[in-house]
Amino acid sequence: MKIIVDRDRCTGLGNCEALAAEYFEVDEDGSLTVLREDIDAADLGLVERAVAGCPMAALRIEA
Ligand code: SF4
Repeated sequence: MKIIVDRDRCTGLGNCEALAAEYFEVDEDGSLTVLREDIDAADLGLVERAVAGCPMAALRIEA
């Protein structure tokens, strides 16, 4: 499964990094880097929480 980002919606607030720092990094300028696109099965719950925690609904998981 992969992480998909809608760059038009992301405002760089950083909730995703706070919830799953192994997968997301947000610079001081608010630019988001997805550190790992492919989700380990063991991390699915963690990434799902980060997706749910994005206030802009900019993240989704694709099978
Ligand atoms: S939580 Fe959402 S809006 Fe904030 S940086 Fe992450 S993807 Fe972007």
